[in-house]
Amino acid sequence: MAIWNPWHGCHKISPGCRNCYVYRRDGTFGKDSSIVSRTGAFDLPLKRKRQKEYKLTAEDNPVYTCMTSDFFIEEADGWRPEIWKMIRERKDLHFEIITKRIHRFMDCIPPDWGDGYENVTICSTCEDQERADKRLPVLLSAPIRHREIIHEPMLGEIHIEKYLASGKIEHVTCGGESGENARLLEYAWVLSVREQCVSAGVPFYFKQTGALFRKDGKIYHIPRKDQISQARKAGINFLPQEGLEELFQRLSKSSFRSGFHLKEEDREYVREKGMETIERHARDFIAKRLAPAEIPNDGKQTPMKGHPVFLAQHATGTCCRGCLKKWHRIQPGTELTKEQQDYVVRVLMEWIRREMEKK
Ligand code: SF4
Ligand SMILES: [Zn+2]
Repeated sequence: MAIWNPWHGCHKISPGCRNCYVYRRDGTFGKDSSIVSRTGAFDLPLKRKRQKEYKLTAEDNPVYTCMTSDFFIEEADGWRPEIWKMIRERKDLHFEIITKRIHRFMDCIPPDWGDGYENVTICSTCEDQERADKRLPVLLSAPIRHREIIHEPMLGEIHIEKYLASGKIEHVTCGGESGENARLLEYAWVLSVREQCVSAGVPFYFKQTGALFRKDGKIYHIPRKDQISQARKAGINFLPQEGLEELFQRLSKSSFRSGFHLKEEDREYVREKGMETIERHARDFIAKRLAPAEIPNDGKQTPMKGHPVFLAQHATGTCCRGCLKKWHRIQPGTELTKEQQDYVVRVLMEWIRREMEKK
C-alpha cells in the first residue's frame, strides 16, 4: 500500500474529529493544522524514477489518498480537478479516499465521472449513529463504483443493517481512538457491527482497539504499539467466502491476470510431481512469502516464472498483499490466518487444475 497526501490541513467538522491525529501530530511541531496547503507530493502518481518508470506501481495498491486532510475539503476545490486527471491517467492504481465530507461529493466530481471511476473507492467515516444516518444515504445514492464504511473512532453502538442490505457496501472497518484523551471503545459495539456484516455477507475488519477499551465490563488501557495486535487477537475479522466461480469470472475480465498461463514445461513439472506435491509447495510458499504481517519485499516476492504456483499467484491476484487486498479483500499488515492461507491455496490449486485440463 502507498499513501498520497496531495494537500495537508483540515477543519474539525464532527465529533470524530475531536482528537484528530493530524492536529495532534502537527501540534507537537507547533504547526497550525487548520491551514490547508498543497504538499510536495501533489503529483506523486505522475512522479517517475530515474529510469523513467513510475514511482508508484500497481504493486503499491491500494493508494490511500489524502490521509492528513479531507479529499473533499473546500480549500482544495481548485486543486482537485488536477488530482482527478492524475487518477484517470493512472488506471493501474487503485485510490482509496476516506472522507467525512461525503455531502460535498456531488460538487466535487469531474465532468467525465459518469457512474464513477473504476479505480476509486470512496470510504465514508461514520463515528456514531447520527453521522451514519446522515452520511450513508448520500454514499449509497452517489454514483460510486466502490463504497466502504469506517467507524473510527467508534463512539457508540451503530446500526447499519439497512445500508448493508443495499448490497453496495464492499467493506466495513471498526476501530477505537488513540492518544491521551482517547474516548472509550466498547467491544460490544464492535461485535454488533460484525454481526450485522456477517448477516449481510459484507467483509468486516477490526482494525485497532484504541487506547481505552472495554470488554466484559472491564476497562483496558492499551499502549499504542499493542492496539492493532490486540484487535487482531480478537480474531473477529470476517471475509465472506466468494464462490470460486465468481472469483474466476472476475479474474477473466482482467487482461493482466488472464494473460498468465502454464507453459508446456510447467505442465510437465506438475505431471511429474503430482498435484499433491504442488499443493504442498503452494502451502509452503504462501506460509513463507505471503502470510507474514510484514514482508520486506512485498509486491516483489513472487517471481514471474520458475514454478507453476508463481504463475498461479499472478493469475489469481495472490502474488502480494496489495493484490490480495484488491482481489480478495484480505487486509495487509496482519498475519494471514490458517483459514485465509487454506483459502489462497484452494484458489491456486483450482487455477492450476483448470490450466491442466486445457488442451
Ligand atoms: S475530517 Fe479527518 S483530518 Fe479533518 S479534522 Fe476531522 S479527523 Fe481530522
Ligand atoms: Zn501482487
